[in-house]
Amino acid sequence: MDLVLNIADYYFFTPYVYPATWPADNIFRQAITLLIVTNLGAYILYFFFATLSYYFVYDHLLMKHPQFLKNQVSREITHSVQSMPWMSIPTVSLFLLEVRGYSKLYDGVGEFPYGWFQLVASVLSFLFFTDMLIYWIHRGLHHRLVYKRLHKPHHIWKIPTPFASHAFHPLDGFLQSLPYHIYPFIFPLHKVVYLGLYILVNIWTISIHDGDFRVPQLLKPFINGSAHHTDHHMLFDYNYGQYFTLWDRIGGSFRNPSSFEGNGPLNYVKKMAEEKHNSHGGNGYKNEKLFNGECTKTE
Ligand SMILES: [Zn+2]
Ligand SMILES: [Zn+2]
Repeated sequence: MDLVLNIADYYFFTPYVYPATWPADNIFRQAITLLIVTNLGAYILYFFFATLSYYFVYDHLLMKHPQFLKNQVSREITHSVQSMPWMSIPTVSLFLLEVRGYSKLYDGVGEFPYGWFQLVASVLSFLFFTDMLIYWIHRGLHHRLVYKRLHKPHHIWKIPTPFASHAFHPLDGFLQSLPYHIYPFIFPLHKVVYLGLYILVNIWTISIHDGDFRVPQLLKPFINGSAHHTDHHMLFDYNYGQYFTLWDRIGGSFRNPSSFEGNGPLNYVKKMAEEKHNSHGGNGYKNEKLFNGECTKTE
């Protein structure tokens, strides 16, 4: 974050905001700037990518699902907007430690004998580390002692839209991002890689709520996408993962997404519409089954 902090200071805060007598490395000044930059960055990322996803990726047919709530989109947005500033407080505390030199972040690839090799290896190890911890933290958040208070607010949305991606209880959101912040305090990581992966996971979080259930055939066994995460919202005890299905498979919580089997929420809505059409057509095709249980795999 010191890269972002330096740019913000250089172009904006030093010339236009803070008095010249306030040194740039003052801890209070750094904390205030980080709070502003982190919140602004989070809002821009959230609104830009969630809006794009909502209009160009998200299938609006899903909003006709019986479990889609009244005014859901505006509720998801309100929840996210209210949570993000609170989430940013513990996050900024960690950014502050990092800016003040307590982490193992570095900026020169040449600092290590196998610079580029180390950089690529660190990306893989970062993905492995964060995927593993996020899985267990998320699973822990489903424990009955904490679920209701901390994680349930994110499960209100059974059929989420991209705007649900950041609609968490602040502590829940922070805990699920904690592995990202812990890693650079334990292992060396390039600053730009860190920033890039942090932005990427925010976009990924939006993408697993976008209701686009397609995954390239080759990657289907490995990637934890929107189909997996939508099932997580609906069925709770499966597919806790973030990028990959690995830890769900190890932890015994993997479930092949209902959408891959032709009975996901979108199939359900389409079936419902078909039912309605048929019953209007007067052939009396009953739709009770669809309302009682899952939409079964039919031609
Ligand atoms: Zn959950
Ligand atoms: Zn979710």
